[in-house]
Amino acid sequence: MKAKTVYIVILLLCAITLQTKALPTQATSAPASLGTSLTSTFSSKSRVKTQKTPKKKSKKSEPYITPTASEIEYAKKKSDEWAEKMKKINPKVHLIETKHFRIYSTYPKSHDGHFKSICAKLYRKMCRQFGISPKKNIWIGKLSIYIFATRKGYETFYVDVIEKSEERSQKSGGLSGCVGAFQYVLIAPLKNSVKSKSQARSWFLEVLVHESSHAFIARYINNNRIPNWIDEGIAEIMAATFVPRGSAARKFVSAAKKARKNGSNIDGIFDCRNIPLDSFHYGIAQSMVRFLIRLDQKKFINLIHTLKKGKNEHEALQEAYGMTRQEMVKKWYRYISARRRR
Ligand SMILES: [Zn+2]
Repeated sequence: MKAKTVYIVILLLCAITLQTKALPTQATSAPASLGTSLTSTFSSKSRVKTQKTPKKKSKKSEPYITPTASEIEYAKKKSDEWAEKMKKINPKVHLIETKHFRIYSTYPKSHDGHFKSICAKLYRKMCRQFGISPKKNIWIGKLSIYIFATRKGYETFYVDVIEKSEERSQKSGGLSGCVGAFQYVLIAPLKNSVKSKSQARSWFLEVLVHESSHAFIARYINNNRIPNWIDEGIAEIMAATFVPRGSAARKFVSAAKKARKNGSNIDGIFDCRNIPLDSFHYGIAQSMVRFLIRLDQKKFINLIHTLKKGKNEHEALQEAYGMTRQEMVKKWYRYISARRRR
């Protein structure tokens, strides 16, 4: 389905009044061990069909909130402030500015061109996945990305600047969050330096895609949060799609296998602000979201819109799929069991 068609679908499904409010302070982590390509999460040639309506020239609203000038100014000011703090941790930090990103890196400058082109490509791809024209700017100004060449630098920034726990800083591989209108992404290097260069590259890309997806979802339609397991599930699918040979593409298979074989408890993904930072829970979240998309993509889009309207997970599941969470989990077990037999 073309982006334009998806856009119409989104508008049809979305009866949301866009509000101009600041993003709440929030953060979403990627596990330290990040890692069936979907050609498109939201915009594939799906069962989503648009109703034929007479062609009318109407003013289109964007599937995100247009930021105010003061929000853009605040985001830039905060971005600069954090860059100064990063400089105190590592004086080698420098800015790489692109159309949509402010990338602060402590890697040697020889990496700059690579980071620039990855981010440009990523933005275009994410826009396509969400049915938004890449000519549009979904961010409040630009998205700030802080890239750390050392774990020590990342963990110090995580604890001292973002004021998050030391334990999470050690377990996580990246972070996406916001302070008011300022949105940020943090990327850590691969923990195990024994791994090969290509593994390190793949890891970097997966974390970048994963965390940027959170930032994208946070801006998509409005600034309301969606349940963490759905947010993580989508971010993992995006990582698996962009890096098909990475760990996210395998994680959901092994997690589902473990759940099927050992009857492992999957309740840990529900009713929490952040799902546990481990491969199993991230894999289950991804598998569950894949299942919901597979069940009915149109309903999945509807689910996201209902959640963004402010409905809770139970109400949204009922409204979009006509099922309870318990029924969803039951069906998911049946789904992963049937896949084993194929
Ligand atoms: Zn995440």
